[in-house]
Amino acid sequence: MPDSATSPLAGLLSSQPLINTRELKILSAAGFETVGDVLLRIPRRYEDRRSTKAIASLLNGETASLQVHVYSAGWRFSYKRYFEVSAGAEDEPYGPRLLLRWFNMPYVAKLLAVGMNLSVFGKVKEYAGKLTMSNPDFEVMDDEEIANRLVEKAMGNCPDEVIPPAADCVCVHTQRIVPIYRGISGMVPRRFRELVYHLLQIMPEGLRQPGYDVAPAYPYREALEDLHFPRTPEVAHKARMRFALAECFRQQFRVAWRRRQTRGKPGLVTAETDAYMQELLQSLPFRLTEAQLRCVSEIRADMERPVQMNRLLQGDVGSGKTLVALCAMLLAVESGKTAAMIAPTQILAEQHYNNFKKLLRGMDIRLSLRTSDRADDIGYVADNPDEADDSPRILVGTHALLYKKNKARNLGLAVIDEQHKFGVAQREKFVTAAVNPDVLVMTATPIPRTLTLTLYGDLDVSVIDELPANRGEIITALRSPNNMKKIIAFMRSELAAGRQIYIVSPLIEESEKSDRSAAVSEWEKWTGIFPGEPIGLLHGRLSPDEKDAVMADFRNNTTHILIATTVVEVGVDVPNATIMLINDADTFGLSQLHQLRGRIGRGQHKSYCILLSDAAPGEPGREKLEVLCRTLNGFEIAEEDFRLRGPGDVLGTAQSGLGSVQFAEWLSDTRLIHRATRDANAILDADPLLNLPQHAPLRELVLYESDQGVIG
Ligand code: ADP
Ligand code: MG
Repeated sequence: MPDSATSPLAGLLSSQPLINTRELKILSAAGFETVGDVLLRIPRRYEDRRSTKAIASLLNGETASLQVHVYSAGWRFSYKRYFEVSAGAEDEPYGPRLLLRWFNMPYVAKLLAVGMNLSVFGKVKEYAGKLTMSNPDFEVMDDEEIANRLVEKAMGNCPDEVIPPAADCVCVHTQRIVPIYRGISGMVPRRFRELVYHLLQIMPEGLRQPGYDVAPAYPYREALEDLHFPRTPEVAHKARMRFALAECFRQQFRVAWRRRQTRGKPGLVTAETDAYMQELLQSLPFRLTEAQLRCVSEIRADMERPVQMNRLLQGDVGSGKTLVALCAMLLAVESGKTAAMIAPTQILAEQHYNNFKKLLRGMDIRLSLRTSDRADDIGYVADNPDEADDSPRILVGTHALLYKKNKARNLGLAVIDEQHKFGVAQREKFVTAAVNPDVLVMTATPIPRTLTLTLYGDLDVSVIDELPANRGEIITALRSPNNMKKIIAFMRSELAAGRQIYIVSPLIEESEKSDRSAAVSEWEKWTGIFPGEPIGLLHGRLSPDEKDAVMADFRNNTTHILIATTVVEVGVDVPNATIMLINDADTFGLSQLHQLRGRIGRGQHKSYCILLSDAAPGEPGREKLEVLCRTLNGFEIAEEDFRLRGPGDVLGTAQSGLGSVQFAEWLSDTRLIHRATRDANAILDADPLLNLPQHAPLRELVLYESDQGVIG
């Protein structure tokens, strides 16, 4: 049994007496079942409530912690009912007062009574000459028994009783650095904080980190305390780093393991002569960029060796990755092997297929398309290739290519387009064949270098860091919907010049149905604006065949305007399109906007990306639009996106193959990544098969916990 199952952290919340049934339900709905679930909820931030002030020195508008004594308490009514406490310093019955008011929090009345000592935290406001705090966070400083008796007395149950003065008590919500967690619907923040506090108290001193402990010198229990209730900001940082390192280590350990599994594996020689490739390059109306040529030769060098290639081809949108991949595929075919390219969507698979068909015209190469989305039958086969035939060909398809029935025969090279849409698990599935085919994965998600290491540390990397020179300029403009008249006039002039237009709206998440109706009404709107103009409509509700037909019409310039939800985001290539109009642009992510903009500026014409948004300067959502207007560089945009949203959110989890990231800190911390990589390698050097008993948790990690990658 893994030791994680016997850890106190695995204890069920339902066996904790301090949590009632109602709370259990709320917690369970939010995904909290065990003590560990609660203790590993990471504070989003901290609030420093350490410094306490005297009432006399409070300033209007400031936020402060203070110790007060309750002189009177009761319900008040003005425009709203609220519970009010008149508070002052305990030893100054005639000193200055602070009025504490609680709105919509009737339970507070049951907790507070005259004679109590409180610690409160809140924002000071002056109303009609009186200092007040609305809904302050508070805690009763008297011990429980005294507090109860005070409340009883307030209710008239024991009016004459003399109640002894307060003993000392520990603050949870005030007078300390207080953790702030992401909200849990149905539970007030202070209650969750109390739970964390109490659960921490019952954890044994020698609590061990479940799984492999990366930092045994810093006891786990202490680190948890420091994480939730740090005594100083430095301590909080130290604790976060410990947990970040643990997370980073898990990730890097897997990468290091995979790297050892794939490194130096015997493979096929899949490149020899290059007549096909030369023929292709001669036939192109342009020359490959220096960066493309460099990448081709890096890939070729791998393919020429009888060792499996595991290479990442990274390049910004429009940098021309497809051609580089095609060169590699031609090398493979010429060496007598089949080459396959797998794309994340049917639209992209068909686009590659049609594109290759044109590019390879006149060459003696067989090309087939396989996608699963069509008909019921997995594995639609176009061009009817003879299945029993092993002779080399180029296959293009969606993940249908992963299924046994379609497994390419004689596979020498596997190219995976837009890797970020697939999980690592899919990549592995694709390449687990009898022989070890060479693998080239491509991604257009520009990510900072540290992250490339993290996500693709098991791969060699080639980067296309240059865009083709013939590109028309792209102008990016931020416009309010009030400017529509001008925008329409401009669109009209581009249409008159023979250009095409994308109009993209955000996906409506509640239901696909409303997504469709929103898309349809958008279509009706634009049909009204440009009567007689053929307009295509692409939304999630269309069948794959319908989507295809719509894309084909736009690609062939039969329709001049394409209304779409985000289906066009990745990879679609229509060089004649020069306007990308994005509705509610502020609701998209920065990298997504960059991808959308990448759909234009693909031909020689000047192009325009129009970001429609009514977000005012300073509003959330506005800043990223400004970033987009400022730069076209995908890497710069990725860095900004990381800064604005944090890498965890940017990458998503399914998309990245990262699993869930709690401590985004490490994603951009090279030192942590290097340390984790070094530790991982040291362990694997000493115990390559992880046979030692102390490495059992690591064995489990690499063998049984798969990455949760999902096909996008
Ligand atoms: P991405 O890297 O985004 O997948 P593509 O491979 O789709 O980009 O290429 C975008 C467009 O640029 C295609 O129309 C392609 O034919 C064209 N292209 C590729 N390489 C060059 C080049 N060296 N010079 C000019 N155009 C190129
Ligand atoms: Mg592409």
